[in-house]
Amino acid sequence: MKTEKKCKICHTAFTPEKRHPRQKICSKPECRRKSRIAALRKWRKLYPEYFKNRTDNVEKIRAWRKAHPDYYPKYREAHPELKKKTLKYVRAHRAKKRAFLQEKGFSLEAMVSKNKI
Ligand SMILES: [Zn+2]
Repeated sequence: MKTEKKCKICHTAFTPEKRHPRQKICSKPECRRKSRIAALRKWRKLYPEYFKNRTDNVEKIRAWRKAHPDYYPKYREAHPELKKKTLKYVRAHRAKKRAFLQEKGFSLEAMVSKNKI
């Protein structure tokens, strides 16, 4: 039984995984990435309205906020615990970002002072 197949992206021969005999793409990271991007493109073509509704909602929310400028300051005042929750989230996010940048040899503070973030 012939098990070798030709990758649909790089056109080189490969052996499908034992448990995925219908595999059409080889396991090279670049082929997998290209395949994933193509699948997403296909999906967006099938459902072009999916993200449109989302941006329409953003516009609706912005318009509503403009029409009700007092709502959020009052809401925050009524729910002081949310400030703590948000602050905790922001601090954790910044710590994660700082660690990532430090690993790459950058400094978050230097980037903030240069208005890069
Ligand atoms: Zn390939």
